[in-house]
Parts: sequence; structure tokens; C-alpha cells
Amino acid sequence: MSAPVQDESSRVEAAAAKPAALIDLKALTYDELSQWLTAELGAPRFRAEQLFRWMHARRVRSFDEMTNLSKAMREQLARVAFVGGLELDEVLVARDGTRKLLLRRADGNRIESVLIPMEDRITQCVSSQVGCKIGCDFCLTARMPLRKNLAASEIADQVYWAQRVLGEAGEGQQVNNIVYMGMGEPLDNYEQVVRSLKNLIDERGANFSGRRITVSTSGVVPKIPQLGEDVPVNLAVSLNATTDEMRTRLIPINKRWNIAALMEALHAFPLQQRRRITVEYVMLGGVNDTLDDARRLVRLLRGLRCKVNLIPFNPWPGSRYQRPDEGHVEAFGAVLRDAHYTVTIRYSKGEDIGAACGQLDGQVDGQSEAA
Ligand code: SAH
Ligand code: SF4
Repeated sequence: MSAPVQDESSRVEAAAAKPAALIDLKALTYDELSQWLTAELGAPRFRAEQLFRWMHARRVRSFDEMTNLSKAMREQLARVAFVGGLELDEVLVARDGTRKLLLRRADGNRIESVLIPMEDRITQCVSSQVGCKIGCDFCLTARMPLRKNLAASEIADQVYWAQRVLGEAGEGQQVNNIVYMGMGEPLDNYEQVVRSLKNLIDERGANFSGRRITVSTSGVVPKIPQLGEDVPVNLAVSLNATTDEMRTRLIPINKRWNIAALMEALHAFPLQQRRRITVEYVMLGGVNDTLDDARRLVRLLRGLRCKVNLIPFNPWPGSRYQRPDEGHVEAFGAVLRDAHYTVTIRYSKGEDIGAACGQLDGQVDGQSEAA
């Protein structure tokens, strides 16, 4: 194997941050790492497991700390490779206990990851890109000028940092669920996202269950069935509208892949037993929240094994939409429930630190607790 197994833009970025020849070993899956070690260093296969455990279970960032590798091997590794990841800049804590981690890449760009407490469980919302090119009209991330793909190491590192932050808080909490619903469109950074998922569920590493991980997409249709074939995780889709006219207005990607194409891809997603697709629906006051919309949604979803997650819009400075009132949201939900859909309403968390859905932009805008 020659160059780092990364997509073009990540490779360019990695090259900018490190001398060109260095390969990010934490961005490789176990199999890729094993192959690379054999091909490049002539190392026996058991070394792959040792190295993988150091990076993904012990979360070590330097070869020097990998004490069961010989000094010669550590030096050899340092000449050709590095262990990618992020630096933790700040942890902001909201009044409701939501924590926002501000993390920095080697190129200085900042991304966010949010830890949301729900009863006795914690859901972590991870980012897959700096910014997002999909350009949804209601989403703050879409306003960011920059767009860069995160490396698989940088995606997984958000979880590793969260585990450390929670461990240090000493409240016995841990990350229970992971949702790819932070900054970016995961299926627009497909290769790196899939590598990060494979590594997070690898039992030699973080050992998460795929059942506890959900990837959310705005509708990158060709990648939807492929995701389910490549890695056994849950799928969420941001439907957000019930007519093509409205959906194209809100999510420009709908012009390329319309609702019919999206529904076809959802039906083709290989669902594991007893799992359902999550259909997300951002409710914009006076825009897509009528009872007619609710009835159309029922018709659209017929025959799909799914549950519906209603997300009342979270405003951000300069946004032109409004949050519908609670009664409206409940009435919309009731139409779906009457049609026997499971409906959850995601009332926002962490708004005072800009950590709610669609409020992520990598800026510091709240009270800092610790770094
Ligand atoms: N790019 C992916 C995942 C990140 S966005 C996607 O779009 O699915 C995660 C969710 O937040 C999506 O369902 C999106 O529709 C929703 N969202 C974006 N901005 C929002 C806002 N201001 N208020 C409420 N939900 C928002
Ligand atoms: Fe990107 Fe998702 Fe925001 Fe749309 S809602 S701009 S796809 S992050």
C-alpha cells in the first residue's frame, strides 16, 4: 500500500499538517492497519492488534507510550506514520447539563461535539465535516464558509475525548449512544465516516455496539443502501418536508435526488432485525408544520419500518424561521401516532451554549468551564 487510505481532500489536508509521507494510522481500519504493517514494515500480524488497542482502546496519541512495542519499532513507526486526532480546546456546560466539546484540528479549524444527557443515558452528537456543503436553509452549519472532511481518526477522537471528559467528571457517566448529527453531512465524507464507524464498533477498540450508533443523512441517495451493507449501524434521514417543492426549498440536494428517489433508497436500506429507520422532521413554524403535512407524511412513510423524530426548529441569530408552538407540534405528532407511528419530539437541549440541533458552527459562544 502506498499513500494514506484517505479521500483526496483529507489527504491534501493531512499533507498540509504533516510532512507528505506520514500516514495516519488511526484513520485506518484494523484490516487496513494490519495490511500496512505487513507491507510497509514487515511486522508480524499480532503487532496490528497491539497498535490498534493502543490507539482505539487506550487512546494513546504517541508511539513512545506504546510500551509493548520495541524501541526500534516505535522509532520506525514515528518516521513514517502518526496517530491522528484532535486537541480539546474547551468544554462548555449548559444549564441542563449538556456539554459541548470544542475540538481543534491540526490545521486550526474547530469542530464541535455535543454530549446530551437523557435520563440516565448520554447521547453524543459527533461532527463529520468542518462546515457542510449541502446548504440547508434552516441550518447554521450551512452558513460556515469552510468545508473540510474530517479524517476517521478525528471523528472517532470526538468519542474518545468525551469518554475522557466524562471519566474525569467522576459522575459514573459514559457515552451510551452516538449520533452522527453534528456538523457536516456524513455521507458526503463517506470513506472516512465508514472507517470511523468500523473502528468504533471494533471489539479490539472502543467496542461500541452498532445498535447504539445512528448516522443521519440529508439524503445522499446512492450511499444510503451502501452504508447499511458496509457497517451495521442505524440510519436516520432528515426528510423535513412532504412535497418536492418544499423539500427543494429547504434542502437543495432534493433537486438531485427527490423524495421518490429518497424513499426508494430507504426501502433498499438493509435493516437489521427489530431495527427501524429514524425519520427526522424539523418543524418550521408556518412552513412545513400543517396537519396536511402530517397526513402527507403518513402516506409517504407507508410500508417503511420507521419511527418519526419531530425536531422543533432551533433559531440562531439571523435565521429566518420560527419554532412552532408546542400545541402545534403535539397536534402534528398526534396525526402520526393515530396512524400507529412511534413519535418522539426532540425538545432542544443546550441552547444556552449553542449546542442544540443546527446551532453548531465551531465558535465559542458560551461560558467556558474547563479545558
Ligand atoms: N447533515 C446531516 C446530519 C447533521 S444535521 C443531516 O442533515 O441529517 C442533524 C439534524 O439537525 C438534521 O435532521 C437537521 O435537519 C437538523 N437541523 C439542522 N438545523 C436545525 C435547526 N436550526 N433546528 C432544528 N433542527 C435542525
Ligand atoms: Fe448539512 Fe445537515 Fe445542516 Fe443540511 S442540516 S446543512 S445536511 S449539517
